[in-house]
Amino acid sequence: MTNTWILTTDERIAHLVDTAAAIEGTTTVLVVAPSAPAMGGVDRVVHLPVAEDVPAEALAVAVADLVAGAEVDLVLVPNRPAERSFAGAVAARLALPVLVGATTVAAGSAQVARYGGLSIESVSYPRAVLVLEGGAAAGSGDAPVDTHEATPAAARITSVQPATSGPANLAAARRIVACGRGFKAEEDLALARALADAVSGEIACSRPLAEGTAWLSKDRYIGVSGIHVSPEVYFALGISGQVQHTSGMSGSKVVVAVNTDANAPIFQMADYGIVGDLYEVVPAITAALS
Ligand SMILES: Cc1cc2nc3c(=O)[nH]c(=O)nc-3n(C[C@H](O)[C@H](O)[C@H](O)COP(=O)(O)OP(=O)(O)OC[C@H]3O[C@@H](n4cnc5c(N)ncnc54)[C@H](O)[C@@H]3O)c2cc1C
Repeated sequence: MTNTWILTTDERIAHLVDTAAAIEGTTTVLVVAPSAPAMGGVDRVVHLPVAEDVPAEALAVAVADLVAGAEVDLVLVPNRPAERSFAGAVAARLALPVLVGATTVAAGSAQVARYGGLSIESVSYPRAVLVLEGGAAAGSGDAPVDTHEATPAAARITSVQPATSGPANLAAARRIVACGRGFKAEEDLALARALADAVSGEIACSRPLAEGTAWLSKDRYIGVSGIHVSPEVYFALGISGQVQHTSGMSGSKVVVAVNTDANAPIFQMADYGIVGDLYEVVPAITAALS
């Protein structure tokens, strides 16, 4: 009999509820939220109320305290920021492993995606904390609710504004113009911006341009440790095509690569490959498409 706990801040845990239901035992949902959701398909709900102006992360230690007293076998956590902080707190408290990116979970083993899904590791354990996709809102129901009061760590939300930029457009973009180290200077990115304007696309980059030079923000780099995209057209300009980059854009329908090196790996996945200097080729493409 496996004692499974799901840690969350809202109802978007349908996949975790289904995963727990497939394992023989009991399922408890610990929810940190202003009010307890009415949940079905689980044995009980433990509610830790949190004020509207307190970030859920401020209750991570309280979450760990509750889980520590419950003799859990499996802890399932949706892959979201506040919930990941719960995973870390619980794992540190109980000296359990945290496995991020689990795809299939059983009582004593899981399959975990690595390198953006390029490989799958089978991992066994007696007890573990698993971070996986939460899925849609779980079905409502009348699982009994136990409410526990806890004092949050000292943190307050002082204001909330809509973000002016972020990955949302990139993830939804139909056309992406991605820049790599083939660009010699930050101001040269104007060439890529002009192409992006011509095709109504978004600018993106390889990791060195976001984490090395910081010419573009970190929410614009594509790859295994960045954003995963699948646009209709992906322009790879001065990008060599290392697997850490291509694993984030391999779902693109059409790939156009521009590179001076005819042996660059990016050409292996390009539908249209142009061996040439991006400083000449990109303005020519932009002019042709404008
Ligand atoms: C754990 C780990 C995680 C990583 N995660 C990511 C990730 O998520 N995303 C990511 O992008 N990288 C990631 N990397 C880095 C990755 O391995 C590569 O180093 C990086 O993708 C290379 O970026 P690049 O193609 O822009 O640069 P380079 O590999 O230096 O390639 C530059 C290319 O530009 C070409 N070029 C030069 N001049 C011109 C010109 N004038 N015109 C046309 N072409 C030109 C060159 O021929 C070359 O092919 C990761 C690495 C590690 C170790």
